[in-house]
Amino acid sequence: MADSLIITTSTDPFTRGLDYLYGVRSLALTPAIIDLVDRLDDRISICTWIGNHIDAVNRQLTGYVQGCHDCFHAWEQPPIQIFAAPLVESFKIDGLCNLQTNPVTILVDVGRVVPKDWLRLVVHEYAHAHAGSPGHHSQFERSLAHLCLGLEIALPPDQPDQKDWLQFYPDYVSTQDPLAFWRGQGQDSRSLN
Ligand SMILES: [Zn+2]
Repeated sequence: MADSLIITTSTDPFTRGLDYLYGVRSLALTPAIIDLVDRLDDRISICTWIGNHIDAVNRQLTGYVQGCHDCFHAWEQPPIQIFAAPLVESFKIDGLCNLQTNPVTILVDVGRVVPKDWLRLVVHEYAHAHAGSPGHHSQFERSLAHLCLGLEIALPPDQPDQKDWLQFYPDYVSTQDPLAFWRGQGQDSRSLN
């Protein structure tokens, strides 16, 4: 489902990667959140890595979305497409859920999170899609709690009264250098073929 939406006819890895970034940029809430298309320093190495490896990354993410879907009845599953993309550092977000596209688009910067925690990042964004809201309100909490139960992710034992924790749950381990993954320099990115 997901991969077919971003169409590129090129077989050149760099061009494919650049086309991909333009494609996901058009699905972002605000295009400025993906700035690599305009950056000359890292552009060649990152776009080339994306051209060669992004399908495998997105297949893995789509599998995680399927795991989230499986927590709900078919009629409760929001239509979702998910893509990995490097997000601009200054926005300070690791993922986003754009409810204005159909299907709903989830973008996650997998370079910012250790691979074993990618599912946790996906779960948070999926809960937004399921709740149909960008906020962290009670409907979001219900969706998130249901997902955590189904996927065996522990909820905080002491859930504070204020809902602030919801904004950062499930928690995950961040990487030191987000762009290293996208340059193919992370150990984890090398293992993807
Ligand atoms: Zn959120």
